[in-house]
Amino acid sequence: GMLSLRKEHLYKVLVIGDLGVGKTSIIRRYVHQTFSSNYRATIGVDFALKVLNWDSETVRVQLWDIAGQERFGNMTRVYYREAMGALIVFDVMRPTTFEAVIKWKEDLDSKVMLANGQSIATVLLANKCDQGRELSNNGIKMDQFCRDHGFVGWFETSAKTKSSQPIPPPEL
Ligand code: GDP
Ligand code: MG
Repeated sequence: GMLSLRKEHLYKVLVIGDLGVGKTSIIRRYVHQTFSSNYRATIGVDFALKVLNWDSETVRVQLWDIAGQERFGNMTRVYYREAMGALIVFDVMRPTTFEAVIKWKEDLDSKVMLANGQSIATVLLANKCDQGRELSNNGIKMDQFCRDHGFVGWFETSAKTKSSQPIPPPEL
């Protein structure tokens, strides 16, 4: 048969943010295409694996789902080890979870970095956009926030309605 020379990659990606913002739900949607409104808090850390096949390359994204209360402990240092990327999630309907984003980013940058000393790529997710767009309806401000705080970018997401669903523009 044909000799297959697939290039394999394994990337550890952290999913962090305050309790209840939808971290576990986003991972379930991405990996298993499901959503549940039954709330069950993550204890410690959960793992999920998303396998992406890109031409001749296989990318295994190992998602680390870290419980929202863990930032105040020292355990995050252990969880963060060797991560190459992170998603920091907040709930668009709860301003305190947006304020906490900066603290999560600081915690991350103080505890993990790439081999070259740079901070790991971090994307901001404005989740539950199906419930409203309170904190993410000003895209220009969000772009500036990302530049100011070292995020590579941001996205509005909904684990409930799928992120691929187009969001109507806000009414003027
Ligand atoms: P975590 O603590 O960050 O892991 O949050 P969970 O994933 O456990 O979600 C907390 C609650 O928010 C659950 O009741 C979810 O069903 C709900 N939830 C999560 N994502 C969304 C979303 O995008 N839209 C809506 N409407 N509810 C969501
Ligand atoms: Mg969880």
